[in-house]
Amino acid sequence: MECPNCGSHQLQRNGYRSQIQCYKCKDCGRQFLETYKQMRYSEEVKHFCIRMYFQGMSARSIEQVTNIHHTTILSWLRETDVDVLELLCAEQHSIEKLEL
Ligand SMILES: [Zn+2]
Repeated sequence: MECPNCGSHQLQRNGYRSQIQCYKCKDCGRQFLETYKQMRYSEEVKHFCIRMYFQGMSARSIEQVTNIHHTTILSWLRETDVDVLELLCAEQHSIEKLEL
């Protein structure tokens, strides 16, 4: 087990949520679930989905295209750093300008 945020192994058990063990990272304070790693997709796939979302697609439409469950996509949107979201938005705007 390692922190999905910073890779630290300094983890603290942090109770249970829906019978799943929760952990908290002692280094960065990130809280996460034990099953986190099981539904792991590459950063590329993740960013691709987030980008589609910003194109105006709903999470369910993305699910139909990618076969990734819409709750997974929504959780990515929630957990994604603001920096990354801003970056993707900025890219999005520059793409729109190019298309014009
Ligand atoms: Zn951490």
